[in-house]
Amino acid sequence: MGGKVSRHCSKCGENTIIPGDIGLRTSKDMELIMVVRKYHGIEKKVPLFPQVCGKCGFVDFYVEDYDTLKVNPEDRPIDPTFRRPPLQEFDF
Ligand SMILES: [Zn+2]
Repeated sequence: MGGKVSRHCSKCGENTIIPGDIGLRTSKDMELIMVVRKYHGIEKKVPLFPQVCGKCGFVDFYVEDYDTLKVNPEDRPIDPTFRRPPLQEFDF
């Protein structure tokens, strides 16, 4: 699941990623920002995590549970009246 996250900056390449629990919130409701994938009437979402470089200030994003974004045959559309097109092999 997820695997190890690189501690190197994607911009300057230095091993200067600021450690600790850095999160993203919307200023309005303090909710965690999520990556949302809507596909075939199915909504999948995972938290989006930032990495901040302590040298150049570059902010990078990653998700830990990217497998969660994959659409599985067991997933049910959030709208029961949604008429699902047939799943294709490239959906997975
Ligand atoms: Zn950097």
